[in-house]
Amino acid sequence: MIRKLPEDLIRHIAAGEIVERPASVLKELVENSLDAGARRIVVSWEDAGKKSIRVTDDGAGMSPEDARLALERHATSKISSLDDLSAIGTYGFRGEALPSIAAVSRFQLVTRPQGASEAWSIEVEGGKIVREGPAGAPPGTSVSVENLFFNTPARLKFLKSDATERGLLSRVVEDAIFAARPVDFQVFSEGRETINLKASPEGTSPETALRERIARTWGRDKAASVEAVRAEGRYMTVWGWISDVHSHQSSAKLQRFYVNGRPVIHRRLIHALYDAYKGRLFTGRHPVAALFLEINPSLVDVNVHPSKREVRFSSEGEVYDFLSRALQSALSGGARMPEAMEERGGTVGRSSGLPPLPFSGPTLAETRAAYLVQAPAGPSPIPSQTVLAGSETEGDFTSLETFREAVFEPLCQFDDTYILVRSAGQLFIFDQHAAAERALFEKLQDGAEGKLPLRQPLLLPWVWEVSPEVAAMARDRLEDLTRMGYELEAFGEKAFRVRGVPAVLGDSGRVKEILEGLVDDLISEKIPKQWDAILVRAACLGSARAGDPLELAQMKGILADLQTCRSPWSCPHGRPTFLRVEPGELARRFRRT
Ligand code: ADP
Ligand code: MG
Repeated sequence: MIRKLPEDLIRHIAAGEIVERPASVLKELVENSLDAGARRIVVSWEDAGKKSIRVTDDGAGMSPEDARLALERHATSKISSLDDLSAIGTYGFRGEALPSIAAVSRFQLVTRPQGASEAWSIEVEGGKIVREGPAGAPPGTSVSVENLFFNTPARLKFLKSDATERGLLSRVVEDAIFAARPVDFQVFSEGRETINLKASPEGTSPETALRERIARTWGRDKAASVEAVRAEGRYMTVWGWISDVHSHQSSAKLQRFYVNGRPVIHRRLIHALYDAYKGRLFTGRHPVAALFLEINPSLVDVNVHPSKREVRFSSEGEVYDFLSRALQSALSGGARMPEAMEERGGTVGRSSGLPPLPFSGPTLAETRAAYLVQAPAGPSPIPSQTVLAGSETEGDFTSLETFREAVFEPLCQFDDTYILVRSAGQLFIFDQHAAAERALFEKLQDGAEGKLPLRQPLLLPWVWEVSPEVAAMARDRLEDLTRMGYELEAFGEKAFRVRGVPAVLGDSGRVKEILEGLVDDLISEKIPKQWDAILVRAACLGSARAGDPLELAQMKGILADLQTCRSPWSCPHGRPTFLRVEPGELARRFRRT
């Protein structure tokens, strides 16, 4: 028997599609405010959005009747027929968001149309109106969503850590900040004001306004090292900003694509971005991008996904080609190094256009030697943990001593990944990343344990500008970062003054990357919040990677550093650092014997 589903069950099903997590609630509310023509939007959340999410705007507002209607499914003021669907100029159009959110929370809507004398308040619990009446509030709308998923505990269990959920909330806000440039935004995360942005003055170009918003949310340094993108075609236009060829990030988070003003996630667009940097970006590094595509609406389908994050293009290949060409010409046309460098000012690690390499500074052996000279009494720099079990040794090396005494002569690099080395008539193949990572890991460990100098104070401290979520995580892990050698001093809500860096990294140019990479990985829970894990990750981020071309001196440095290690045989993740080509193997293969 076919039965019509009860209305509250329908609501629950729809809620599941639209309301996955706090960030999806926030997205719908902010988009409604923008659709209502708001000029100022105030957002706040508590407990990563689980306790409350509030969005207040100064937009059109609703009459009490409209407000009641807005809470019914498929009630929307935005489209009335199927024809409208192809040319949607608003964010919302399905009329499902408010009822879906109200079905899974304690919900309050206070709204007052422009020109009305008072506001109207409606309170809903688990989808049922529980209170309604006049209220005092300025024109506009305020929606408050408390105890999200209180009646669907299974959904609560699916949420990620607070840090991750907060990151997603911030992302929603950033999406809106970049797209809605004439709107003022004020954001409070857990009671702290994290963003307070005014619209740019009248007459500011969209490019300038966007760049200013990038600076205020992602940091001045990001905004200073971008290239302008602009291309106009017959059916589409693209404009925005992407990293210049010398600047890259340890995570892919700072990339935003908009299609007709709507933030989207689309694999081909991301692909086109990375393609433009082909051969200029190390593996594991990511460009920054904020790109707006304007495409004839009849060639885009936005009604693919309930949360409208996905779009479909009627001719994907053309969009891809168009974007690729635009990005490539931005990168090749605009390599204005001198200007970019001036703007970067005194930040560390940006001093040359060359990619930062790991051990351009002194080798571990040299650092230790220097320390020996400096340290009057101190602890023994090389712990006396000597002979290792046979199974842990490699090649012909029966002990740590023989490994340390070996003379390694690097011959060349292979595939930008391995170092071919001759030693006592034998051929060895070192994995450059595994070897460098092992050495740096031990250096960092020694620094933390007082066996090597820990911190290099900076004569010229620099300011590390970050997003609110990065700031929060850095504050949370300040003790570990300090233990590693960083000296960070809070500098406003979203910046730190960096007064010292790990001495073992010195001027390697990676001090900032490591800091950012670590915090990103902690936020995305790629690594656990434990000292050991953080240390291993720092070593990984600070070391030559597979794919990095190395000079002979750098290869020598890696080998020398590895020779002073306590456990040179494997990287901190357990991969071998080198292999030996069996003596006689070549002769046997060429049938010389
Ligand atoms: P949709 O946005 O898809 O139309 P929603 O459920 O999000 O559906 O909203 C339903 C309707 O409520 C909207 O069409 C709009 O008319 C009204 N509305 C929602 N939020 C606001 C707001 N902040 N200001 C004014 N009107 C709003
Ligand atoms: Mg909506």
